[in-house]
Amino acid sequence: MIFFLKKKVFFFVAKWVVEHHKDLCIGCGACAAIEPKHWVMEGDKSHLIGSTKKEGNADGLHEIKEVTDLESNQEAADACPVPCIFVKKIQD
Ligand code: SF4
Repeated sequence: MIFFLKKKVFFFVAKWVVEHHKDLCIGCGACAAIEPKHWVMEGDKSHLIGSTKKEGNADGLHEIKEVTDLESNQEAADACPVPCIFVKKIQD
């Protein structure tokens, strides 16, 4: 999205947050097969590459990562059978 304001041009880059509720992951491998640039299997769970960790509410560890290109993360979330991958747009 581009805004013009007093002869200045502002570019806003779309951003999404990808969140993995790792405690719920059953390790099926679908996310890593669909989007190997962002997902890898580590033992019996998947890992969101380059993510930071934060405590979940009552349910344990969550991995989170901001991305400016959604790539196939929405497909990975849609394919997750639990589901435990959530994608939210945080900036247009
Ligand atoms: S698709 Fe969902 S359940 Fe399967 S490995 Fe990925 S995060 Fe875990």
